[in-house]
Amino acid sequence: MTTKLALHGGEPVRRTKLGYGHQYIDEADIQAVADVLKSDFLTCGPKVGELEQRLCTLTGAPYCTAVSNGTAALHAACLAAGIGPGDEVITAPITFAATANAVLYCGGTPVFADINPETYEIDPASVEARITEKTKAVIAVDFTGAPCDYGALRHICQTHGLVLIEDAAHSIGTSYRGMPVGSIADLTTFSFHPVKTITAGEGGAVLCKDPDLAQRVLMYARHGITRDQPMLQDQGNSNWYYEQQLLGYNFRMTDIQCALALSQLNKLDRFAARRRELVRRYDEELGKIPEIQIQKEYDGADTVRHLYILRLDFTRLSCDRREFYDAMQAENIGVNVHYIPVYWFPYYQSLGYRRGLCPNAEAYYESSLTLPLFYGMTGQDQADVIRAVKKLVEYYRK
Ligand SMILES: *Cc1c(COP(=O)(O)O)cnc(C)c1O
Repeated sequence: MTTKLALHGGEPVRRTKLGYGHQYIDEADIQAVADVLKSDFLTCGPKVGELEQRLCTLTGAPYCTAVSNGTAALHAACLAAGIGPGDEVITAPITFAATANAVLYCGGTPVFADINPETYEIDPASVEARITEKTKAVIAVDFTGAPCDYGALRHICQTHGLVLIEDAAHSIGTSYRGMPVGSIADLTTFSFHPVKTITAGEGGAVLCKDPDLAQRVLMYARHGITRDQPMLQDQGNSNWYYEQQLLGYNFRMTDIQCALALSQLNKLDRFAARRRELVRRYDEELGKIPEIQIQKEYDGADTVRHLYILRLDFTRLSCDRREFYDAMQAENIGVNVHYIPVYWFPYYQSLGYRRGLCPNAEAYYESSLTLPLFYGMTGQDQADVIRAVKKLVEYYRK
């Protein structure tokens, strides 16, 4: 027996819309922000260094620069890696556009490698196949929070002398073979946008291991200006003296944002445990359905999932992804799609990228949906999502 879909005028599985992600803010967060507002420094104050230090402790990376958002983090990382005109940077197409845009900001050329159809992460074999003498770096994206195949990627980058950048906007708290995200790649970038695991409203960070690379990140994120005595070219001036040594940007994160991020980090363990619990239940309940593929992870992955992806086999269903999406929305489940292959966008098409470049990524895109996953969702919320998925699959099953 199948029940009438809300799309066709039936009763939705729930009365109110459940979003796919939502920040969790408590009184401690509010107090932390209020304390900064009453202090002497709204920006360039002590909370910035405190956050940077905390992220180093969390990840095991020796250097961290807090920046204004995850996009600025990627931009600063690419600049520090020396990306410029004529350089190619290999990255994944299933990501937020900012990953590839950061390469373009520097005048470099993004080259898209295909994904593994089971993990949805960048495929090391495809990366290797796209290396040319112009390749300078690889930006791996920890899509959904799961780590990429860093055993292979690190080996490829070492062999070919490439800088490995990890876009870890989704993966704070994740580790791979015992290495926390932040200590795996040459440069790692975080985002603290409200849909991510911890938020600062807006904010981001660049972590790195090499002191020279770290210095370059810092310079590019702070106008290219230094007042650090040993770094100055013109020595012997007084305290007021500083130098601009390269063309940098203002990528500062405010103390207000840093205080919020610090307060959120106090809850990271709780956030992570709840996300793991929700993922386990989705995997258990949905993994049994033959029309559904659940995400696989590489050996050694210990993941804090940011997104939960449902991949549907539409050859076995009498609808397409669009109808399934609309039907879920009608059931009041706020599903989403992550992501449209970046090179499909009109802007990238205008640069000469063509469809067909990454067949696995394109097939993934046509068949995937993102289910709600966030700390504040209740057991009942999740039960509603699972019920809606089952209701639809039963209805559309051929
Ligand atoms: C969110 C996100 C970014 C950009 O971060 P912002 O803080 O929004 O600038 C970059 N890459 C990925 C994979 C993201 O999800």
